[in-house]
Amino acid sequence: MKHALITGASRGIGKACAEKFASMQYELTLICKKNLEPMQTYAEKLSAKYNIPCHVYSGDISDAAFVREVFSSISSLDVLINNAGISRVGLITDMDDATYRELMGTNLDGCFYCNREAARLMLQRKTGSIVNVSSVWGNVGGSTEVAYSASKGGINALTKALAKELAPSHIRVNAVAPGIIDTDMNACFSAEDLSAIAEEVPMGRLGTPDEVSELIYDVANGPAYLTGQIITIDGGWM
Ligand code: NAD
Repeated sequence: MKHALITGASRGIGKACAEKFASMQYELTLICKKNLEPMQTYAEKLSAKYNIPCHVYSGDISDAAFVREVFSSISSLDVLINNAGISRVGLITDMDDATYRELMGTNLDGCFYCNREAARLMLQRKTGSIVNVSSVWGNVGGSTEVAYSASKGGINALTKALAKELAPSHIRVNAVAPGIIDTDMNACFSAEDLSAIAEEVPMGRLGTPDEVSELIYDVANGPAYLTGQIITIDGGWM
């Protein structure tokens, strides 16, 4: 049985990924930031529904020691979905140091720590696939999301660099860059704001977590020659 580790699996895109990989008979290790109990209940549900082992950990991926501890419990890993992330909307002049550090710590440091530990495990068997969840703002930059855009641009560069480093060992590293997806991350926007954004999207609507998880699954299991790519899913927005 193949084994996938998914960060940020308590809701949104990460939860949709957990369902998808479970339905495809993967053993799962899921990470969420807090509220371990509902995660454990959800993991038991997935485990019973799909007859797969499902392990859960609660902690902060910006803490390198926590990430090391989780990965030390895994003996072999086929897929890492580095999905956990946070966004903060506002002018650069209004963002304080602590908010900036929290954002970069979660999105970029967390991605680095998880990619590093996954690489250590995957190098033992010279096989594996990493998918980092980026954003269209990492490609083109978003006004009022400067730190977020920088963190996702960093993820794109990390993905391309690590893909080169690991390709000789048959380990693939790609990123998926969603546009606007209907999750709690966008709860900071009013209904009017969201429908104005949806009008800008050629598809005329927000994407769903399931649509993103389908792409993530396909990229994780894609052709052996597919590596170092940032693949956008945005309804034709950018
Ligand atoms: P969400 O807010 O619904 O879920 C985020 C998940 O990450 C949660 O499970 C949360 O517990 C976890 N998390 C946050 N900080 C963490 C930390 N420090 N340690 C461990 N876990 C942590 O968000 P979502 O919309 O599902 O976003 C998932 C990913 O997709 C993020 O990387 C986000 O940047 C990216 N993304 C989302 C959108 C969108 O419109 N929703 C667009 C582009 C990219």
